[in-house]
Amino acid sequence: MNRVIVIKLGGATLGSHDTAIEDAVRLQQQGNSLIIVHGGAKVVTEWLSRQGIPTRFVRGERVTDAAALEMVAAVLGGLVNKEIVAAINGRGGQAVGITGIDGNLIQGKIRDEEMGYVARIVKVNTALLETLLQSGYIPVVAPLSMHSFDRPDGAPLMLNVNGDTVAAEIAAATKAERLIFLTDVAGIWDQSGKLIPELLSSEAEALIASGTVSGGMIPKIKACLGALPYTSVTRIIDGRQPHALLREIEGTGVGTTIKGI
Ligand code: ADP
Ligand code: MG
Repeated sequence: MNRVIVIKLGGATLGSHDTAIEDAVRLQQQGNSLIIVHGGAKVVTEWLSRQGIPTRFVRGERVTDAAALEMVAAVLGGLVNKEIVAAINGRGGQAVGITGIDGNLIQGKIRDEEMGYVARIVKVNTALLETLLQSGYIPVVAPLSMHSFDRPDGAPLMLNVNGDTVAAEIAAATKAERLIFLTDVAGIWDQSGKLIPELLSSEAEALIASGTVSGGMIPKIKACLGALPYTSVTRIIDGRQPHALLREIEGTGVGTTIKGI
């Protein structure tokens, strides 16, 4: 089997004007094996606020109580996932939408009481991904996890999990050729706001500690660092640019490469 390309679609790339879907279909038709992982935090927040439920983020991640977990499952596992699958299929691609729960793909436990029902990933089971890839489908994965380990009595069977982390864990488990994050900025910026073309793992912690990197970029960088030993290329690129994904595969993309040492 081809080595896979794991693509994380962030909030910026879920709009209708975006070319990421078009690019993914083209890459599939060229014979590439793709796995797409998506986020959708903004859509979940919007649906929660319609019900008058406020949202709190800590270091770029949603504090998830029982009500928020239900909404995450409904909106990410349902609406957002199906919109992406429909867009791919509608453009002549072949995609199947799943969550980390399906086929026991992502198995976790509660990471930290403060965050509520948010998973630390303990195990990844790639069997379903392999089956889908071998049958010619792009698996489109919504970030939900089985609550497989240390589950307190009465706690839910599923957990919310960060999409960046899911993408990185899947890239590591499949020894992906590339892990690409499409986000809503040009890449990682330094303290003066300039794009960092190459970030070494030894520099990453300092950027987080100094506050230069904050919010949603923190889990993204941590995810990249986790995948580094297993993945050939780890990139954070600007998903707002037309054909950012195609350019990236062709080697002319702009963004930040995360590297070891
Ligand atoms: P996504 O939907 O792609 O996961 P997030 O909003 O979670 O996007 O994370 C990307 C955001 O991280 C950017 O929009 C930016 O506001 C924020 N960010 C914080 N620090 C940095 C940094 N040093 N470089 C780039 N982006 C940063
Ligand atoms: Mg994010």
